[in-house]
Amino acid sequence: MWQAEVRVDLDAIRENVALLRAGTTAEVMVVVKADAYGHGMLPVARAALESGASWLGVCTLDEALALRRAGITAPVLAWLFAPGLPLHEGVTAGVDLGVGSLAQLGEMIDAARTAGRPARVHLKIDTGLARGGATPADWPALVEAAAKAEADGLIEIVGIWSHFVYADAPGHETIDSQLDVFREGVATAERLGVDAPYKHIANSAATLTRSDTHFDLVRPGIAAYGLSPVAGERFGLRPAMTARARVMLTKRVPAGQGVSYGHTYYTERETTLAVVPLGYADGIPRHASNSGPIQLGGKVRRIVGRVCMDQVVLDCGDDPVAAGDVATLFGSGAGGEPTADDWAEAVDTINYEIVTRFGGVRVPRHYDGEGAR
Ligand SMILES: *Cc1c(COP(=O)(O)O)cnc(C)c1O
Repeated sequence: MWQAEVRVDLDAIRENVALLRAGTTAEVMVVVKADAYGHGMLPVARAALESGASWLGVCTLDEALALRRAGITAPVLAWLFAPGLPLHEGVTAGVDLGVGSLAQLGEMIDAARTAGRPARVHLKIDTGLARGGATPADWPALVEAAAKAEADGLIEIVGIWSHFVYADAPGHETIDSQLDVFREGVATAERLGVDAPYKHIANSAATLTRSDTHFDLVRPGIAAYGLSPVAGERFGLRPAMTARARVMLTKRVPAGQGVSYGHTYYTERETTLAVVPLGYADGIPRHASNSGPIQLGGKVRRIVGRVCMDQVVLDCGDDPVAAGDVATLFGSGAGGEPTADDWAEAVDTINYEIVTRFGGVRVPRHYDGEGAR
């Protein structure tokens, strides 16, 4: 018997990855950072690799090492490191590492010396996002230093890569301007003797909408989970995550009853309230107070009153809802339930944040589909 659960349909992930694979001639890296956007890194990684992905992408060294410890041998790229991490563990484990500055390159070289084998690196050029990566001004110096380290046998330059600002708005002018900077960066590298086998820049949105951004490798994340990066488009993807809970109790209350902390909602008439045992500790944004949609008893209702740490309340009128009934926060939408997109709209965020929030520790995650345990 479960009280609340996140269900992840691995068959949906397989279908989505297969769809992404079928849409490109490039290799596919499925991004499984942040515990696979809340879906569970290891089951998702295995499903992705079995359905057309040949690479995995993560942010942190720890995420990459966890994949290796689980016996996953496919290429893994990790790209987010504060100074001073034990990067040699990544080198020893055969993890590819993103490098976006001379200082980071120096750390990779040290790590390679400690590990006694070359570090596999992907040189990152900042084509406009102004986050990680070398600016176009700093790029030639980074490439030159990397070429020297490669000649010295300390690194292997596997990739040149970047990341889009606004690929989720197809046609946005930044896409073309970033592509120009990227191509120039690749050309500069070639002039300096560096011809990396993998050039890559496409996230889900670019993978789905711009085949001219695919180069050798695409890096979809959100699309693998069945969610669209582009407002109003579905691309045939199937959402993999469902979040639901069993109603803890129902009660009749009179008209004018204030509900939950601060009484930000009052009942209009005598009604049945249903208490659902999920709150902001489980992933429901507190901003969903008086707005978050939940399906219960065949209807989509809105949370009434404040979202608490552990529970929310629904006003069900005279509908015959009872303790133990299943309240579905979001799912694929196939059963009329809200989707992560509906939640994103209700709380003014993006579907990425909704599913990732539900990857917390308290709600158990259960799997459906092939490979589920
Ligand atoms: C998260 C991330 C991705 C995946 O982005 P989606 O929009 O989820 O497809 C790709 N590349 C990098 C560098 C990322 O950080």
